[in-house]
Parts: sequence; C-alpha cells; structure tokens
Amino acid sequence: MISVDCPRCGKVWYSDDRHGGKVRLCSDCADKLRQKRHGSPFRLDAFAIVALILFAVDGLFILLAHLFPDVLAIPLVVYGGALLFVGLAGLRSCSRYHWYLADVDWDLARWPLLLALVGLACVLAYASLVLPQR
Ligand SMILES: [Zn+2]
Repeated sequence: MISVDCPRCGKVWYSDDRHGGKVRLCSDCADKLRQKRHGSPFRLDAFAIVALILFAVDGLFILLAHLFPDVLAIPLVVYGGALLFVGLAGLRSCSRYHWYLADVDWDLARWPLLLALVGLACVLAYASLVLPQR
C-alpha cells in the first residue's frame, strides 16, 4: 500500500499498485474526466430546445395552413415573413454588416440564422400553397 497524490483535486489516496507512481488521478477525478470525454455531441442545450420548438411550431402551422388555407395562409406568411425579417436583420448585425462568414461568431449568429430558416420555410410553404391556385 502506497500513498498517491491526485494532481487534479489534491486528495491523497492509497493504492496497492506501486507501478503507477505516486502522482495519479484519484478514482473520482478519473471518473469525472471519463464522463466528460464520453459526453454526447448532441447535448440538449438551450439552442437545441428552442430549435426543436420552432421546428415543431413551423411544421404544425404549415400543416394546418394546408388544411385550412382560407383561414391560415395569410397568418402563415405574416409569421414567416416576420421571422425571416428579424432573422436576417439579426444575422446582418452579427456579421457586422459584412458577409465574411469566417468572421461571424456562430455561437451568437446561429440564433438569427435559425429564425431566418424557420421563417423562410413558412414563406415557401405559403408560396406553394397560394401560387398554383392563381
Ligand atoms: Zn482527484
């Protein structure tokens, strides 16, 4: 039995394994690091939740507009146009009024991009709903 120092939390622990040396991660820290490394890339963060909600609302709205075009076609295009406008305006201010995409902070710019895409989907759905009839 030897005493071992954990370099991460500073705890002194005891091990029967002499070959690992006197400075090693304790089992708690090793577990924590392992969990971090195996974390899913599809974390359910705020952006993912908002995106899911917007896609769900979009899908429902478009579906209902196809079922009741007389009532919902205009609200659909107003909703989509508003999202598209706000999204593009936000995207434009995130890109500081130039379009070098490498300079854009996508952690921030993904929000208006999401709004613009969701809005665009509504506007396109409206177009497919209305244009063939006229
Ligand atoms: Zn530790």
